[in-house]
Amino acid sequence: METTSLRIAIQKSGRLTDKTINLLENIGLKFDGYKDRLLVKSLNFDVELLLIRDDDIPEYVQDGICDLGIVGANVSLERGADVEVIRDLQYGMCRLSVAVPKSSGFHTMHDLNNKRIATSYPNLTRKYFSSRGIDVKIVEISGAVEIAPRLDVADAIVDLVSSGGTLKTNGLQELEVILHSQSQLIRTRKPIPAEKLDLIDKFLIRINGRQLAERSRYIMMNAPRESLEVISGLIPSLKSPTILPLAEPDMIAIHSVIPTDKFWEVMEELKAAGASGIVMLPVESMIV
Ligand code: ATP
Ligand code: ZN
Repeated sequence: METTSLRIAIQKSGRLTDKTINLLENIGLKFDGYKDRLLVKSLNFDVELLLIRDDDIPEYVQDGICDLGIVGANVSLERGADVEVIRDLQYGMCRLSVAVPKSSGFHTMHDLNNKRIATSYPNLTRKYFSSRGIDVKIVEISGAVEIAPRLDVADAIVDLVSSGGTLKTNGLQELEVILHSQSQLIRTRKPIPAEKLDLIDKFLIRINGRQLAERSRYIMMNAPRESLEVISGLIPSLKSPTILPLAEPDMIAIHSVIPTDKFWEVMEELKAAGASGIVMLPVESMIV
């Protein structure tokens, strides 16, 4: 019998696993352990997780074996899977870059003409070099690409970089970025039965709430009653803040939710307007 649970493919064990499980737990899904398991059902939402290698996620979603998947854009693009990207998830940030040994004397992409490029991303690499009109020989390697030049397996590499520490340790320097990537929620283009569509809607409402909450803070401050107008003007999202009386008759407490970036922009001005005891708290979820 076909399952009616929403099935989501996630990475079994790797850089995205803990953050993905965290995200799912933060939107209220409970799991009874997921280590060393292939299929894990949520205890409180009609969802099951399929834990597989990240390389397999785009195809599983493309073929409709899973309704949704959470995987790096770098993997979906490399595999060329026909899936719909529904959300960027703001973690697993990295870039796919061309890097050369510092001692190589290669300074521009054209210096790499007719050279050997080691990578685990042969498709993206081939496409990029050919779009630049540069001929290269691609040497496909599945791991530890950064040591290929030292082993004289290749002259340069194309690999994922986040801080750049690994490149540095291996005497490599970045020449050009091919792609900026992050973890994404993807969805199958195969037809999905109505009950599951309903589950996807519910799931997305929770994801949206979480993403909005992550960008927002709950703030509380005390201020002279006469400053309310100035303070409201400083923070447009304070359209209808909660105003509470304080023991001191001319003072009020103002509570509101504001975008984190906005708060840092106006903090000094809030103080200048007489706000004191400003407290900022994280928000767990927000449904607007
Ligand atoms: P699997 O065993 O599932 O195939 P993997 O070794 O291919 O795992 P990981 O190294 O766990 O993959 O990386 C998973 C994803 O994390 C990458 O595809 C990428 O989207 C993201 N990522 C973020 N920063 C980095 C980084 N510095 N190096 C590699 N991947 C990174
Ligand atoms: Zn992988």
